[in-house]
Amino acid sequence: MSAVRLTPRKVQVRMPAKLNIALKVGPAGADGFHELATVFQAVSLYDIVSVSEGPAGQGVSLACGVPGVPEDAHNLAWRAALLMGEQAQRPPDLHIELSKGIPAAGGMAGGSADAAGTMLALNELWQLGWSRERLQEVAAGLGSDVPFCVAGGTQLGAGRGHLLTPVLARGECHWVIATAAIGLPTPEVFRELDRLRPEADAPQVSEAVMTALRGADLRALGRALDNDLQAAALSLRPGLRRTLEAGIEAGALGALVSGSGPTCVFLVRDDAHAVDIQIALTASGLTADVVRAKGPVRPQFL
Ligand code: C5P
Repeated sequence: MSAVRLTPRKVQVRMPAKLNIALKVGPAGADGFHELATVFQAVSLYDIVSVSEGPAGQGVSLACGVPGVPEDAHNLAWRAALLMGEQAQRPPDLHIELSKGIPAAGGMAGGSADAAGTMLALNELWQLGWSRERLQEVAAGLGSDVPFCVAGGTQLGAGRGHLLTPVLARGECHWVIATAAIGLPTPEVFRELDRLRPEADAPQVSEAVMTALRGADLRALGRALDNDLQAAALSLRPGLRRTLEAGIEAGALGALVSGSGPTCVFLVRDDAHAVDIQIALTASGLTADVVRAKGPVRPQFL
């Protein structure tokens, strides 16, 4: 009897948000991209990406239903589907559904997570059997954060952020995450940093961050949190300073703007401490929404 290979018709992946525990920005290269040294961590705020095959010749379609998230080729997940189709030599007759739990334009790689989720889903749907390394190489063509989103965990990023090595990180980090109602465009934040700081050294993540992660020393990690883009985000959105201060006054171990902002993240001791800080930040009325998350986590097929 010959084995029947059942091809799945719809694949769902749960994709985490990312934050940058450290983000050091070097000079801009000739391509306009800045050299980065960063520690990424994937945290338990999720988008669900569902990809199903459609009728031949249909092309890509995408549904999300969140204002501000494009449902056409401007969406990175759509571009991921086209790129995967090209590389795998398969017609991308696909329907993508995005259920958003990651704030849009919030500096938490929501768009990149959706693109990475589409790639992971297509690897299954089309039974390509590509390694994570191969998926990450293709992902680098979509955006600087997409290769990290394919893998998750806690990783050191170099180059544009796309050259990854796992970080020896012990234990769990608990975070409180304060979102803003209106996003900040990443290119604008990088431009503002160049304006504020025309000269930049080669970027390097501090030894303090790496030692704190290795030793699961949350107090030391709270003190070592470091984001060069924070000054630029605060310059464009001065009100964020009060949000960061409110979290520290409430007892957070550390606070920083996530990536290019405007989301602010707070490192806390544990679940109970996270609830305390969440309540204090919510009561401050300074932020649109306040949620709790843990890291590191990884993408997961549902
Ligand atoms: O790679 P990604 O498309 O996510 O980058 C968005 C924008 O952020 C880029 O167009 C660029 O302006 C800026 N960027 C940068 N240097 C990096 C990553 C991003 O200047 N390493």
